[in-house]
Amino acid sequence: MSKTVFITGASRGIGAACAVYFAEKGYDVSINYLSSDAKAEAVAERVRLLGRRAHLAKGDVADSSSVCRMIQEAEKELGAIDVLVNNAAISLPQTVFTDVPETEWKRMFAVCVDGLFHCTSAVMPGMLRKKQGSIINISSIWGISGASCEVHYSAAKAAIIGATKALAQELAPSNIRVNCVAPGVIDTDMNSHLSREDMDMLKEETPLGRIGTPEDIAKAVYFLADDSLSGFTTGQVLSPNGGFVI
Ligand code: NAP
Repeated sequence: MSKTVFITGASRGIGAACAVYFAEKGYDVSINYLSSDAKAEAVAERVRLLGRRAHLAKGDVADSSSVCRMIQEAEKELGAIDVLVNNAAISLPQTVFTDVPETEWKRMFAVCVDGLFHCTSAVMPGMLRKKQGSIINISSIWGISGASCEVHYSAAKAAIIGATKALAQELAPSNIRVNCVAPGVIDTDMNSHLSREDMDMLKEETPLGRIGTPEDIAKAVYFLADDSLSGFTTGQVLSPNGGFVI
């Protein structure tokens, strides 16, 4: 029987790579996104070409009623959700802490942390009913080590690690696993503000000598989703980062 994955922020970058990789592995995919209609439809088309069903879930993960609507629609169209990937996030201009506007601080937490709360709450009843499920939360190396001039991003990404570890303990007796992937520097739109020189410098600082690809991360996410590969793993942080942060 086919399985269903709901992936937030799946119109581009890491989320889109996850959507395609899960489809390759036999999953039907609900593709959440905020506004990139054409990009989300292109991801859905790739999923369909792989013989799987695709559902487009347009809406803001920071808004609980939108999330409830999207999960209900996804479950109606694709069936119960087996895997949730909390991936959607934003990057905001890098700035010293004292210059971070309160609105930007709050928006960062609304998307990254409230988004995780809303989506996880919405899939939980179905997973508890089946006593089965896997949740993968996407953090960042900056949530582990902290990044200067990105306190809002680092703090939100660290909160995701805390939520993963606590929820993993709470849900393990219900056979629901919760894990986290904390990527290093990955070649996506999120880094498009960096110059070629900045990217080359980051590449040089990475022991494996390259920037990561969205597919590198999709494979780590899939590993944590699949019971046959990681059935005894919960509450863990896997950090594919080329050795950048150990
Ligand atoms: P990205 O290319 O910027 O894509 C962001 C995705 O999130 C898009 O699909 C976007 O939808 C969606 N999104 C943004 N705000 C949303 C909201 N409020 N509600 C629903 N969807 C929303 O990002 P990425 O680089 O793939 O990053 C994916 C994840 O990996 C994030 O959690 C990020 O923090 C983490 N990460 C990335 C890197 C990196 O170097 N790229 C490193 C470490 C961790 P639209 O297209 O509709 O805007």
